[in-house]
Amino acid sequence: MKLFNTGEIRNVGLIGHGDSGKTTVVSSLLYCAGAVDRLGSVDEGTTVTDFETEEIERKISISTALSHAEWMGKRLNLIDTPGDSAFVHEANAALKIADVALSVVCGVAGVEVQTEKTWRFASGHGIAHAIVVNKLDRERADFARVLASLQEAFGREVAVLHLPIGKESSFSGVVDLLAMKAYTYAGDGSGKGVEGDIPGELQDQATAAREALMEMVAETDDALMEKFFEAGELSEEELLSGLQGGIRKGKIVPVLAAAALKGIGTDRLATCIATLLPSPNERESMAGKVPATGEVIRREADPAAPLSMFVFKTIADPFAGRISLFRVVSGTASIDETVQNFGKESGEKLANLSILQGKDLEKISKLRAGDLGGIAKLKNTTTGDTLGDANSPIVIDPVVPPEGAISFAIAPRSRGDEDKLSNVLARLVEEDPGLQTSRDPQTHEFLLSGTGQKHVEVTLAKMKKKFGVDCELHPPKVPYRETIKKKAEATARHKKQTGGHGQFAECKIVMEPLESGAGYEFVDKIFGGAISQGYRPAVNKGIQAAAARGYVAGYPMNDFRVTLVDGKQHTVDSSEMAFKIAASMAFKECMKQAQPTLLEPIMTVDVEITEEFMGDIMGDLNSRRGRVQGMDSVGSGQVIHAQVPMAEMLTYSQTLKSITGGRGSFHMSLSHYEEVPAQIQQKLITERQAAKAED
Ligand code: GDP
Repeated sequence: MKLFNTGEIRNVGLIGHGDSGKTTVVSSLLYCAGAVDRLGSVDEGTTVTDFETEEIERKISISTALSHAEWMGKRLNLIDTPGDSAFVHEANAALKIADVALSVVCGVAGVEVQTEKTWRFASGHGIAHAIVVNKLDRERADFARVLASLQEAFGREVAVLHLPIGKESSFSGVVDLLAMKAYTYAGDGSGKGVEGDIPGELQDQATAAREALMEMVAETDDALMEKFFEAGELSEEELLSGLQGGIRKGKIVPVLAAAALKGIGTDRLATCIATLLPSPNERESMAGKVPATGEVIRREADPAAPLSMFVFKTIADPFAGRISLFRVVSGTASIDETVQNFGKESGEKLANLSILQGKDLEKISKLRAGDLGGIAKLKNTTTGDTLGDANSPIVIDPVVPPEGAISFAIAPRSRGDEDKLSNVLARLVEEDPGLQTSRDPQTHEFLLSGTGQKHVEVTLAKMKKKFGVDCELHPPKVPYRETIKKKAEATARHKKQTGGHGQFAECKIVMEPLESGAGYEFVDKIFGGAISQGYRPAVNKGIQAAAARGYVAGYPMNDFRVTLVDGKQHTVDSSEMAFKIAASMAFKECMKQAQPTLLEPIMTVDVEITEEFMGDIMGDLNSRRGRVQGMDSVGSGQVIHAQVPMAEMLTYSQTLKSITGGRGSFHMSLSHYEEVPAQIQQKLITERQAAKAED
């Protein structure tokens, strides 16, 4: 396996909306460059980068995959990321280790919701952008319209590098404005064009577009600008170096044209990556902290610098175990070398240093700064860790995964799998940090949270197919709470004479409401020794136990303060238990006067849709007792911000899917608790009573 220098590496993160053709573009590049001997197809499930069963069955990318090809003496590391809203967080994690983001945009749909979202991820990592307008062979594909949508969304920096030749089914090639040549393709998928003259009818358009490109390049640099105004044009070398510089500075975003499925434009795209896009040492160096001091330092992508490697992803393979995907941030990694995991203070041996072609690992002796690779079976290393030279510790800033947007309760279908469940979940969470697991302390359910229903469903399918644990999924129970609205006071006495020695305790408490979210407070205001020190915590415990059982409908009580003001005790008959009982009696007495009520969780909900569904979505949110709080437009899409009770959102995924035909997505997180409206309270109380009677 050939060893590449840092300057010969191109790390390209392919990003964009689901279905725009990212996986197909990768497939076409790999085939065109001879890295694979047949053209992989998404529709036939034979691509290099969508290899998981779930990806093949659903025809979508679920996780980031690496592949590589050689073109013009450069190693193209192609990072295929998911564009489906449920998995798009993977793209953010992957862009951390890319040097350029290549946005794949559908030639029919133009800029879509995830095109913008993933663009923002790339900008957040400070890397260069490039765009390929794909699917130009499709009916209603329109390069000019898509270009206008790109310029509107991403600004004047968007610069045309290719003009398409022909339209829709007669799209046959591209005019390259740098070479000022036409490249036509047989459409057989080979991806290799035949160079020729620019067709007569495109001559004027090509000349005008090249002038526009030259002017844009001149604008990126003062010296070039001066030269351009003096001479009226730039030389070939100035245009090329100006373009390279403009792309690196983010002042130019080149736009290319393609139909990857037919291989049209593929070799030009590969050439653009190899000759125009930045190498690892041409992007801003990566930052991290010295673990011992917290000092922020940077590491240049220099093969001679101390070794540091950043693990950006982990694949959980049931057979090969854990595969850690990494970038050599600085230095040179060598096979069998022992490195330090800086966050975990343990050593790791690079026994299986490899590069990845989809799921296949190929051993390699060395990887230089900037290159990407994978290692199977590291002991303690997980996603986000930094490994490297023990003498030069650094912890590279990890990418923060998104918070779970929606939670489901899960349970294994067979009792025997209960023990396995948490182990398998831990491995899946390691593979996908966008997942979270927890146990609800109130409802005792095992909760799996993800970015959406599809994310959680795919995780369940993976659990079954990869690890043989079959689980069922249901909406979580709503964790209602109780609270009080008025201040109350009560004295309760617990007294019993049973044969031997009796029981005696008396306490007087004041109960008052606290603001939402304040929880529970206990204040001891006993003066003198009405109740001795030793028994007062028992009053607190008695109140807490009663509060946990609730009063209105059996839900735990929250946001109130209890002040213990007075009481009595008996030298022989008093005990901790007696005070607990007296406290719970006083609690119940207070509740009679304190206007107890039920609270429900209110969620902050963001729904991403296209304009056409606005009316239906708003109407539906209203029918769910939702309050729409505002809207933002994102490219061709809209985001509606609303607050909706959790109880009304349990089946929202299905509704959103049926309204939008699967083109909408939503995110929700807990905002706060609010009082449940009276009729619904009555229903909940009746349900609770019925459930109790059944028990
Ligand atoms: P991704 O979700 O962005 O990775 O998109 P895929 O590569 O999975 O492609 C989505 C669908 O579009 C698949 O059915 C592809 O066969 C199809 N597709 C991809 N590129 C092209 C293209 O250039 N032309 C046409 N007509 N279809 C394409």
